[in-house]
Order: sequence, then C-alpha cells, then structure tokens
Amino acid sequence: MGKSKQRLEISATDVFEYVKCPAFFKRYVSSGKRLEECYDQYYHDIIFQSGKDYELSEIEKFSLIDTTQSLADALRNKTISAIRIKPGMILKREITVSLKNLKKLKTICAIGRPDLIIRNKDTNSFIPLDYKTSLSLFNSIRFQLYHYCYILQKYDPNIPYLGVLKSKKFNTIFLNLNSLKLDWEQIINKIILIKGGRISESKIVREDIKWTKECRKCFFHTTCENIVKSNLKINNLPGVKERRFQMIYDIGIKSVEELAKTDSKVMWEKILKIPKGINVFGREFTVKQIIGTARAFVESRIVILPQKLKPLNIKINDGFFDCEYIDSKTNPEIFSISLGIIKSDESLSLKNWFANNSSEVETIVSSFYDYLINKGVKRLFGWNIKSADIDKLVKISPLPSEINFHDLFYDIIDNIAMPVLSYRLKTVSKFLFGNQFQDKIQIGYEAVGLYKRFLETGNHEHKERIIEYNKKDVIQTYEIACWYEGLCKEYK
Ligand code: SF4
Repeated sequence: MGKSKQRLEISATDVFEYVKCPAFFKRYVSSGKRLEECYDQYYHDIIFQSGKDYELSEIEKFSLIDTTQSLADALRNKTISAIRIKPGMILKREITVSLKNLKKLKTICAIGRPDLIIRNKDTNSFIPLDYKTSLSLFNSIRFQLYHYCYILQKYDPNIPYLGVLKSKKFNTIFLNLNSLKLDWEQIINKIILIKGGRISESKIVREDIKWTKECRKCFFHTTCENIVKSNLKINNLPGVKERRFQMIYDIGIKSVEELAKTDSKVMWEKILKIPKGINVFGREFTVKQIIGTARAFVESRIVILPQKLKPLNIKINDGFFDCEYIDSKTNPEIFSISLGIIKSDESLSLKNWFANNSSEVETIVSSFYDYLINKGVKRLFGWNIKSADIDKLVKISPLPSEINFHDLFYDIIDNIAMPVLSYRLKTVSKFLFGNQFQDKIQIGYEAVGLYKRFLETGNHEHKERIIEYNKKDVIQTYEIACWYEGLCKEYK
C-alpha cells in the first residue's frame, strides 16, 4: 500500500493575505503563529473585532436559512433568498494542482465560508457575500470572493463567478470575478509552495514586498523598509504615485540613479509636452523635490534644494502643537491636543487637553485656544497642519485671529530632500535623530484605536498612552524646527 496523501488546505483568508502582501504571508506562514498573533492590537481590533461586529449587525437584518448539512438542497430551493453557513462549519473543495512535484504528495483543498450566500435577483443564482469595514484592500477582497465561488460550485456547478461586497462606507457592490481565473490559479500555486514548505521559509525577496500605505500599519514595517531602500524603485519615492511614475517612465527615466542625474528644467519641459503632465505634477518645483529625493538616496545624504532656506527665528513663547482626532468630513472629533511652549531655557513646557467623551471635544478646543491667548502665544508650529489639524480645528471652532499657525512641513519639503520613503513627521524625525523621540505608536490610526478602547473600557492606561504619544509628536516637531534653524544658520 502506498503512503496516504497529506492534506493541504488553502483558505480564503490565505488568498486574501497573499494578495494583500506576499511578504506578510510568507512571514505569517513561517512563524507558525495564528494570523491574529501577526497583527498588533490596533490592527487586530480593526480587522478582526470591528469586522465581526459589523458582520453580526448586518446579518441580523436578514431572514436566513441556517444550514450546511443540505447546502446543495438549499441552493436548489427557489424559495430561499439567503443562506448562512452554520458557525464552525467550513466548506471544502479539492483543487486540481498543476505543479507536478506537489501533486504526488498532497491532497489540496480550497476551504472557506462566506459571511452569507445570497440570491442575486437579476440572475436568480446564489452568490457569496462578504462584509468588510473598509475597501482599502479591494483586490484581496475580489480574490477572496473568487475563492468562495470556486468552492460553492462543488455544491452547485451553476454558481457564477460573481460576488457581493457589503461595506460600511459604500454599501453593496456587485463584482464580476470572471477575469480572475488565471491569476487566482497562479496565486494558489504560490500559496501551495509556501504552505507546502517548498519556498524556503523566511526568505523575503523584493518582489514579495508591496510597499503601500498599508505598510505603515504592519508589524514588519522596519524590515521591509530596509529591503525597499536597498533596492529602491522610482515609485517608492515620496510624491511619486502611479500617474507620476508612469510619466517619468514614459520620458525615458527608468531608475532612481537616472532620475538623480536628471536636470529638473529639462525634465519639466518634457513633462509639459505630455498631455495632462502639468496637472499631474502641478509645478516645476515638484520635479525638483522628486529629483532631490532621488539624489539624496543615491548619495546617502541630505540635499539642499535651491529654494529660499529661510530661518524660522524661533523664540521664547512660540508654541508647538499636535492633535489626535477621529476623522470625518463634517464632524471631526479631536480627542487629544498637546502643546509645548518654549521657555526661557529653550526647553518646552508641555500641556495636554483630552476629551473623556465626545461631548468634551468642543470644550477642549476652546480651552486650548484660551490658554494660547492667555499665555500670549503669537506663533504656533505644527507638522502638516494645513491639510490635517487646522482643517479639523476650524470645523469645531474658528481659529483665534491673534495666532499665526505655521506649517513646518513646508519649510522642510520646500528646502530639503532626505533619503526617506515619506516626509511623515516620524520618518523625518527618525532619519534625523534615530529612535530618540519615537513612540511605540507609529501612526495616528493606532491612537484612534486606543481612544475607542478607552471610551469602551474607561481604562486610564489607554488615555495616558495617547497623551504620551501626542506629546512626543510635539517634541519631534520642536526638535526638527531647531535642527532646521541650525541648518539655515550654517547656510547663511
Ligand atoms: S511592511 Fe508592507 S511589504 Fe512588509 S510585510 Fe508588511 S505589508 Fe508587506
């Protein structure tokens, strides 16, 4: 008798995670941990907890047939409009594998359970539905739904490659998944190799890394950042998104090294000749900034851009501030404001305002303004405040006219290029000062997650963590301002 075949299962979550980021997936599989353990607390809450809460609240609205024992029968029943797979039950369908070396060893199954299976009124066929709190990983969601369709066809071969997505923000979206077949098969082959141990465990190559804004929330950010930096591509540079990247490529610049040697005037003239080139880049100076950052990387140094390097003339009683908020177009909730005022010994006197609930938001904003006025603060610095903090403050209460709000972010990006992958406050601070002023919390979203937990639990440790993080942002802004001031003096 031959050896019985080992079984390898590929879940819809595997597909979701692999499409999201192959590097993350490799690390998760090789760690031997449960997926939840590969996310930090904040991400865990968003992905696993609030996603579940949303799903449950939505499912309550349906009248359901709760069955799997007779899923094939239920799918044939013309009177049923929605089916929910019993909790704990997983659907399975064997996958025919094209990889010869794995074929002999394992039985490979696609497994999963969609949140719901609903009848599509237009086609009268059943299709899988998934609930998501956000659409930020849209491509992963499409492949996850394709995976469900593949499994459901075992129970009813007429089920089409169609899926439904229901999200808090966009309500219901129907997706035609037909075109995903070949890509899905390739993804499955890759996952088989990884889960089957055929791709050596922790070897992450540059091709595995999807360097997106999601990376800011990822546990493995620093390791990937180093790999990205050592094999930098033009589209990894700050300010170069898809359309700009395409235009740079179209004018014949293919590498960061080539970009670093390019004359900004020549490049700008070429861009002007491309239809919509001026709309995509906006102004010539953007080209200078991008070339400057490319040079900074190639030469591993700070590059001074030919702008007006103008000192800030920081003085006693100037203030530095930062807000943490829950974003909303009309009703932002600022829940923490930290302020540092320069004392005579050039250190900062720090203070914080914290909203213990949403009814205190307005109070903390007006008390922050009153304090500034009483202390005679005339100038208030912040980082990237024009598009963020100020925009939120004015929606809650008009800014006090006696105070000049100054965005330090523009002093930096208009005058200096650094070898950094973004000009976020923490990234710039880390580049200039190492880990000195860094906090465990790395992004504002995490503070929002902590705040929500504080509101639910009243746990003061969460509040203290937010305040500490918020104050560290103020300190980092101040330190960057002092560094910039020193640089201006040097170049005077
Ligand atoms: S940091 Fe980004 S590229 Fe790296 S594993 Fe995480 S999501 Fe993937």
